[in-house]
Amino acid sequence: MNETAKTEYDFSDKYGNVKKEILDCIEKYEKIIICRHKRPDGDAVGSSGGLWELIRAAWPEKKVMISSEERCDYVAPYEAVGTMPLPVDYQGALCIVVDTATQDRISDNYFQNCEKCIKIDHHIETEPYGDLSFVAEDRPSCSELIAELSFSSDGRLPMTLAAAEKIYMGMVTDSDRFRYDPKPETLVIAARLIQFGINTERIYSNLYIDTFEHIKFKASVTELIQRTDAGVAYMYITADIQKKYGLSREEASSVVSFMDRIKGCPIWLAFIDNMPLNDDGTVESIRVRLRSRFMPVDKLANKYGGGGHEHASGATVNNTEEMKSLIADADAIVVSYVQRDPTIF
Ligand code: AMP
Repeated sequence: MNETAKTEYDFSDKYGNVKKEILDCIEKYEKIIICRHKRPDGDAVGSSGGLWELIRAAWPEKKVMISSEERCDYVAPYEAVGTMPLPVDYQGALCIVVDTATQDRISDNYFQNCEKCIKIDHHIETEPYGDLSFVAEDRPSCSELIAELSFSSDGRLPMTLAAAEKIYMGMVTDSDRFRYDPKPETLVIAARLIQFGINTERIYSNLYIDTFEHIKFKASVTELIQRTDAGVAYMYITADIQKKYGLSREEASSVVSFMDRIKGCPIWLAFIDNMPLNDDGTVESIRVRLRSRFMPVDKLANKYGGGGHEHASGATVNNTEEMKSLIADADAIVVSYVQRDPTIF
């Protein structure tokens, strides 16, 4: 074992004083509105729901709300049952935004009416906002930052079983079960959550068991994967394909994971027609999901109006011309990386 390796982490010594300041702030406010990003995913649901559970357990007298009308079907069992804030709730309230890098992605148009705003996030910081900010770019999920807030709170925000389940779900969905560059802190937090008695088998069964129809869809749609000479795999899920298989937005978007282990393809891209279509039947815009190993794709996402993480980002293109241009840019990234390190294949 490395001399300096620790089996116990002292979370209180990280990120300066900001976690204590966040707790002071939570303690002070009677009304707290938790916001997350548009099109919420597992981590957005886990971090918002986990925080909601923790604050309510520690301070039952506070009014804690989650502001998001949008749901995420595949993690529906983990949605907190909080009420949506009314216009009057914003006055004198504290807003905590989780898992959201930029203000335009916050799924609440009124959060600025709150008195104070806290940002808790793990995305690459392109746009600082909020009066207090706890951003840890190197961590695979925002949910684990919520757990860390609890574990370094000296008992002010104690972990609960209900919070632990939501947080663990957020951690496994954003890291694909701890596959992507796990940090020691991440695994220590996961271990502590398991000690709370969460049923990991139930969580994995909720998340990863697939319907018969979806497995059949996967088999036919795999035929659509294309590959460039340089080594970019991609798939275009048009509106027609979505209609043909009766796909939900989430099902259509899930195809990105079908390409994540193709030898010789370190970048893979899913293009999904955004629905509904324009009145004249044309596509308004195309969602892009960018994934990679070894080489970063976040700057590529920035170029097309998006962002995210080094190896998992999102963007939007407006037509197939822009789609081709994005694929060509991705090709250039692979070529230049392989020139420097041909061993990756
Ligand atoms: P997705 O492919 O939608 O799962 O996105 C991958 C990561 O990039 C997630 O962490 C998203 O929050 C982030 N992301 C997706 N779209 C955007 C965008 N337009 N701007 C900034 N970040 C994004």
